[in-house]
Amino acid sequence: MSEERTFIAVKPDGVQRGLVSDIIGRFERRGYKLVGLKLVQATKELLAQHYAEHVNKPFYPKMAQFMSSGPIVAMCWEGKNVVKQGRVMLGATNPADSAPGTIRGDFGIDLGRNVCHGSDSVESANREIALWFKPEELINWESNQAKWIYE
Ligand code: UDP
Repeated sequence: MSEERTFIAVKPDGVQRGLVSDIIGRFERRGYKLVGLKLVQATKELLAQHYAEHVNKPFYPKMAQFMSSGPIVAMCWEGKNVVKQGRVMLGATNPADSAPGTIRGDFGIDLGRNVCHGSDSVESANREIALWFKPEELINWESNQAKWIYE
């Protein structure tokens, strides 16, 4: 069993559209373990750290405005290959390129309203989890389902 963790967020558009339970449910039903969950009103400072690689790009101001426009559901999920599999579940960055069955492919149309975020590497996951969660907000617990999910 793997203790790999990823940072998954439902962006303000996903919260406004009532997609929170569906997105949580997909990770739960897949078999991943929820170890952190909270509603966050993101500040511009937090977003600038989270999107450090994008802060100087032309699309950033509008994106930061949107990302701070309402609550975000911040989550930490744990399990085998959860970083890579989380990205597969989200779909391509642009919903127009996302396959049906993925979150963005099922719920999104425009790039700037792509509903969710997921860490793109184990290294980014560790950085993002530390940015969005205090250590005591992440709960280590044993799932009774593990033996029915992992061989
Ligand atoms: N984005 C945008 N306009 C662009 C490029 C990106 O609004 O021209 C947003 C988009 O919502 C994306 C986020 O910026 O999810 C971060 O971009 P990245 O390339 O890191 O994609 P992700 O890791 O979210 O799939």
